[in-house]
Amino acid sequence: MNSIVISGHNGFIGSSLTSRLKKFNIIGISDKKRKKEKNVTSIVKNVNKVNNTDVKHSFQTLIHLAAVSDISFCNANPKTCYEVNVNGTNKMLEIARKNDANIIFASSSHVYGNPIKLPIKENFPLSATNPYGRSKLIIENFLQDVFISDDSWHIALLRYFNPVGAHKSGLIGEDPNGVPNNLMPYISQVATGKLEKLSVFGGDYNTPDGTGVRDYIHVVDLAKGHVKALQVLENRPQILTVNLGTGKGYSVLDMIKTFKKISGMNVPYEIVGRRPGDIASCYMDSSTAEKLLGWKAELGIDEMCKDMWRWQLSNPNGYF
Ligand code: UDP
Repeated sequence: MNSIVISGHNGFIGSSLTSRLKKFNIIGISDKKRKKEKNVTSIVKNVNKVNNTDVKHSFQTLIHLAAVSDISFCNANPKTCYEVNVNGTNKMLEIARKNDANIIFASSSHVYGNPIKLPIKENFPLSATNPYGRSKLIIENFLQDVFISDDSWHIALLRYFNPVGAHKSGLIGEDPNGVPNNLMPYISQVATGKLEKLSVFGGDYNTPDGTGVRDYIHVVDLAKGHVKALQVLENRPQILTVNLGTGKGYSVLDMIKTFKKISGMNVPYEIVGRRPGDIASCYMDSSTAEKLLGWKAELGIDEMCKDMWRWQLSNPNGYF
């Protein structure tokens, strides 16, 4: 049986992905500070958990997800952001090299900074508007250099847009530490009454309703994109760069409206000032993903909200 190392296997994306890779032996590198593995291991039995330094089994693929992804935290703590994201990748690369393993790296739409136009194609100029995006860009450049130095590597840079949603079972979802930083977990906690109201960051962007527009992608579609990338990487040595989103943009107000419709709950909000480092609009062109991976997102915002709401109701206090 093929083995795959997943760093950050117990996070939101890692746990959804792990649950789709049942035919592999998964070696999960956990963040010990996140005690959120209970539900992942209750439905996924193929995981061996290890600490960073102890990957003793040989493996064929590394899926490197582990990162600090809270943008406000990265703005306030750039040192930790670069340490975890950039140095962490360097360590993982060393382990991958020893195993001659293929690499799938979790990159982000943040590497496009403020995009020159929409929809965003993979060959657009890269830049970043915040330390989080910059850390992902540094890692992408680093992996490009690794491939230039030795073109026998098999590397995929998957640029995630805005992953949301949850596993259909209601068992696996997003459980941020403390007050959520991302829009959708914040909205769900306002809908349950755990949080009083949502602050909408900016109502004066050049978008149809003035609020920020993003390309939200269901985590199940995102996980399927990884499975496709795994297969394509097998074919030949390459460095592959692909956007993973739906190709459709929705505003903050669109997301509030849909969540209210699906949950039947009220979502009070207030429009406040813009969040530093945010951009007006970000959504992708899906043609490269279709061409290179034979993959296209299938689930829309109704399903994203429905699955998030199911997870939120089944786990009103998160995993604890
Ligand atoms: N947003 C918001 N209030 C929040 C969190 C986010 O209005 O409490 C907005 C944010 O300005 C952006 C969108 O929601 O337009 C998505 O933000 P998120 O942090 O989820 O993802 P990002 O696109 O920044 O990575």
